[in-house]
Amino acid sequence: MNREAVFVDVLKQNRLRVTKERLEVFRLLGRVDSPLTRSELLGNLKHFGMHPPTLYRTIELFVSVGIIQSLSSISGEVVYELLPPFAPHHHHYRCMNCGLTFPLEVSDDAPEEVALRSLTLPGAVVYHQVDIFGTCFKCLRERNLSEGEVS
Ligand SMILES: [Zn+2]
Ligand SMILES: [Zn+2]
Repeated sequence: MNREAVFVDVLKQNRLRVTKERLEVFRLLGRVDSPLTRSELLGNLKHFGMHPPTLYRTIELFVSVGIIQSLSSISGEVVYELLPPFAPHHHHYRCMNCGLTFPLEVSDDAPEEVALRSLTLPGAVVYHQVDIFGTCFKCLRERNLSEGEVS
């Protein structure tokens, strides 16, 4: 089954209709390679005639049925991305200074699955996430530059 068929299936399982707005939001998130804010989503769907209230309701709906998740960036912005199985399993690198959220492809997930098995979990596992925090190279460079000016 392709991603879109699974998406339609998830909507149906939740007794939700497949509207063209819902399809467009899903397709857009499948096209981009980094999480988007609400205004970025809206900007990319303006030509399509997406109304902000419709978009916001769609986002909330997708979050509630596990199609997407929200990540809060350090800068306070909320970004959205597809969850497995709609996106390949990945981790995130997150800059604590500028809020950059960068997806990291994970080629071999086996070591993580082993680590998970060593934990005593209170339930079944659907997927897992790893967020790595630090200062991105762009911020490090800017920091070095401004320190250079001072001395
Ligand atoms: Zn940064
Ligand atoms: Zn992983």
